[in-house]
Amino acid sequence: MKRRTAEPYKIKSVETLSMLSFEERKESLERAGYNTFLINSEDVYIDLLTDSGTTAMSDAQWGALMTGDEAYAGSKSWKRLEHAVREVYGYKYVLPTHQGRGAENILSQLKIKEGDYVPGNMYFTTTRAHQEMNGATFVDIIIDEAHDPSIDLPFKGNVDLDKLRALIDEVGAEKIPYVCLAVTVNLAGGQPVSMQNMKEVYELCKSHHIDVMFDATRCVENAYFIKERENGYSDRSVADILKEMMSYSDGCTMSGKKDCLVNIGGFLAMNDEDLYIRSRELVVVYEGMPSYGGMAGRDMEAMAIGIREAVDDHYIEHRIGQVRYLGQQLLDAGIPIVQPIGGHAVFLDAKAFLPHLKQEEFPAQALAAALYLDSGVRSMERGIVSAGRDIKTGEHNRPNLELVRLTIPRRVYTNNHMDVVVDSILALYEKRDTICGLTMAYEPPTLRFFNARFAPLSDSGELISEENKKVNA
Ligand SMILES: *Cc1c(COP(=O)(O)O)cnc(C)c1O
Repeated sequence: MKRRTAEPYKIKSVETLSMLSFEERKESLERAGYNTFLINSEDVYIDLLTDSGTTAMSDAQWGALMTGDEAYAGSKSWKRLEHAVREVYGYKYVLPTHQGRGAENILSQLKIKEGDYVPGNMYFTTTRAHQEMNGATFVDIIIDEAHDPSIDLPFKGNVDLDKLRALIDEVGAEKIPYVCLAVTVNLAGGQPVSMQNMKEVYELCKSHHIDVMFDATRCVENAYFIKERENGYSDRSVADILKEMMSYSDGCTMSGKKDCLVNIGGFLAMNDEDLYIRSRELVVVYEGMPSYGGMAGRDMEAMAIGIREAVDDHYIEHRIGQVRYLGQQLLDAGIPIVQPIGGHAVFLDAKAFLPHLKQEEFPAQALAAALYLDSGVRSMERGIVSAGRDIKTGEHNRPNLELVRLTIPRRVYTNNHMDVVVDSILALYEKRDTICGLTMAYEPPTLRFFNARFAPLSDSGELISEENKKVNA
């Protein structure tokens, strides 16, 4: 018999969840224009909107808040954070930022010149925005398989070295200030990069004098996948694997809101002293003194502790295990999800879930709304609504994938909550032909997914109803 494991923590403080009735959820969903971003958090039962800044802090972190040194300069809390980053990640120089994008801003401004190219293993929204605002063109060098949700590969975040070589040949190494390597790849579904691939990318870049900068946001989750899947790593600690990973880079940007186990914060780290000195000047301009960078002393105390807690083998095993616990049950029940299951989220394939809906009827938006209506579980659309419109033609961008993201906050929910999510999705799958599509009633000019409003495309005005079967058939 396979022995079961449990959460590697016990609960000292609880936050009561609101459990609205079906009628109350229906009202809340209507008020929100069927957009899960617009639902009040107090109306949500299980919140799987994002894993960013939603972490539960430990008793040690909460305790440390009282010891924060709020001095404007030379804070001892900063010293502790700097020490933790150097020790756990292995970089020589560290600068604090208010969150990940603060670090991206400074790095992009200092490294990129107009007309440069920044290759990356799939883009991330804020990362690419900073690169482009500084005059660079982003070039996707991830393996082709990463774009296909049905291909099961252990390291689906890997770089295609031929694509990187081809770019170097085409534009020249001097036009490539650095390669931005995300470990893991958020937009590919939390897919990891292998140690072998990191090493090969680093060696290729070094032979052309190109820097490698990690987007280290979920690097601990990546380290765990290496331990689990790559030859020669099963007996090594995650902390040890992480240190080796970081040795194949020249620095990183970090969002503390994910793998550092805090609600706000970030940092920029590097080994090059000159880049450090120039970055320090910009930290003063954009973030604050280099001894706080937009964070309070207490935030830095909590982050210093979170950085160490995140590399505890039991913590990270449970973290990845919980995401898989949710995803595997869905797979076993025949629910279409993106494979393999990644590090921080499970993605429902809404096109396959609601095959009767056309893409203009916003299947992923409809499924996310239906999930909230059924059980109060909040998820996020990642499909045609998020993709927006083509700036030139004004037509909808039509992404291949029409997904609903179920993102698991760290240390917040138990596996019983995951069971509730599974049951709700199975119930919806049973009656999927009773779910209708949506029409967009209000479309904001930019980043429409945040504020768009929708209405059900049914005569009754009901999102889920037996009546809808006739139209859908
Ligand atoms: C969240 C995130 C960022 C940006 O970090 P913020 O702290 O939100 O500014 C950058 N890259 C990836 C992969 C992320 O998930």
